[in-house]
Amino acid sequence: MADEAKPAVVGGDDDGAKRQREEEEKKKKKSPLLHVLIIGAASAGLTIAQGLKKAGIPFSIFERDPDDESRYRDWGMTVHWSAAYLTRCLPQAILDRLPETQSDQQLDFDTITGFPVHNLETGEVLKEIPLTTPRRVSRKRWRKVMMEGLDIQFSKNLVDIEYPPDGSVIAHFEDGTSAKGTTLVGADGSKSATRHLLLGDKAALTTLPYVMVNTVVRYSPEHTKQITDAIHPFCHMGYHPEGTMFWISVMDNPDPADPSQKTFQVVSTWEGALSAEESASSPARLAALRTRISRYHPPFSHFAAWIPDDTPVHPDRIAVWDPLPVDHHAGRVCLAGDAAHNMTFHRGQGLNVALQDAADLVEAMVRVRDADDGGAGLAEAVRGFGELVLERGARECGVSMLTTRLVHRWGEFMRSPIMSGAGVSALGKGDEKK
Ligand SMILES: Cc1cc2nc3c(=O)[nH]c(=O)nc-3n(C[C@H](O)[C@H](O)[C@H](O)COP(=O)(O)OP(=O)(O)OC[C@H]3O[C@@H](n4cnc5c(N)ncnc54)[C@H](O)[C@@H]3O)c2cc1C
Repeated sequence: MADEAKPAVVGGDDDGAKRQREEEEKKKKKSPLLHVLIIGAASAGLTIAQGLKKAGIPFSIFERDPDDESRYRDWGMTVHWSAAYLTRCLPQAILDRLPETQSDQQLDFDTITGFPVHNLETGEVLKEIPLTTPRRVSRKRWRKVMMEGLDIQFSKNLVDIEYPPDGSVIAHFEDGTSAKGTTLVGADGSKSATRHLLLGDKAALTTLPYVMVNTVVRYSPEHTKQITDAIHPFCHMGYHPEGTMFWISVMDNPDPADPSQKTFQVVSTWEGALSAEESASSPARLAALRTRISRYHPPFSHFAAWIPDDTPVHPDRIAVWDPLPVDHHAGRVCLAGDAAHNMTFHRGQGLNVALQDAADLVEAMVRVRDADDGGAGLAEAVRGFGELVLERGARECGVSMLTTRLVHRWGEFMRSPIMSGAGVSALGKGDEKK
């Protein structure tokens, strides 16, 4: 079996700490049959790991990348309705550190109640989108904070899963090592190896016909100041009648006295495909963005024109995976987060749903442990969890896909419930798949 999770660190020898230690010892004694193997150390996997650790359930967590930084791209993500699931999974020490994960460390997100959506042709505000206690986080800093206190095994690329006759599960890694446990959770993102091992060709992503630019920009200090003065503190975004979405928001703002340290996330999408030259070259992709945005209403046109020439623009694509049922091998394997439901980002739901998955999985494992029946309920608990993930994933993938289609078709978008005031939940059933 892979190394046991260490018990949660407790403080000094006061009564509270002693009680906590006793509680954790008791929980450990009740969990001898559970050992969860988590594949992927990012939003979903780390939240599951923290939740299991808090509950005293043994686990091991494996990450393909060699360390916590080198290959990890940054972008902003908005945590909104899922905050309650975080509270369920995270220890107080990490909840206290959440302000460190903010994309704009200087912003009091409690003051944010929504953000304006603009017409990129005229500059007018089309609508205010209300938001309840949103927190925009940097994916990189979020991950770093969530790693606190976890023993993550890096350079572990999952390549195979084995289901031995003794009812356990074995994860095999590219480096020839393996780890044995009771349940393997594939939290390995949109291209999930776990999903491919479970479903073969049916696990493949579908690429949608949109161009996507998603980059982090360090503007000149002078432009940084002008942009800061011009934009809404949460984000400045809008849609153009010819079918473009454009978004700019603060990505990092560590020192208010030093604008050279401030960066912005710039995201834009439009229907179509990159040319061969644009697919091959970052400067060509930047030129494509500039050309597209140059004729838009200022200040949006400036936000693209002012991007420094050496800014890397990655060859991103918008790809989705609509959830399908998987064989859970009697409770020995399941999926969570983007691995289970890879949706388009225009509705900002992927992380929020991943956090709900994490909290539900931890609860399922706690129920198995507390049943005290030698793990007999594991298969049923994982099946129930899988059903929840499938149902919510299918619904969210559908509505997100519909939102993506609508925001690139101006006429339909203006008539849609999103803009008419009824909200996304009023989108007609069945519309999602159109
Ligand atoms: C531009 C953009 C904006 C977004 N904005 C929002 C937003 O505002 N709100 C929101 O809720 N969501 C948003 N999302 C979606 C959100 O980023 C994802 O849903 C979320 O990050 C998924 O987390 P995850 O842990 O499931 O997957 P990932 O973050 O992809 O993590 C998967 C992990 O598994 C590891 N891994 C992969 N393969 C293997 C393997 N074979 N073996 C071991 N480890 C492996 C990877 O290295 C990685 O660390 C946005 C996405 C984009 C692209």
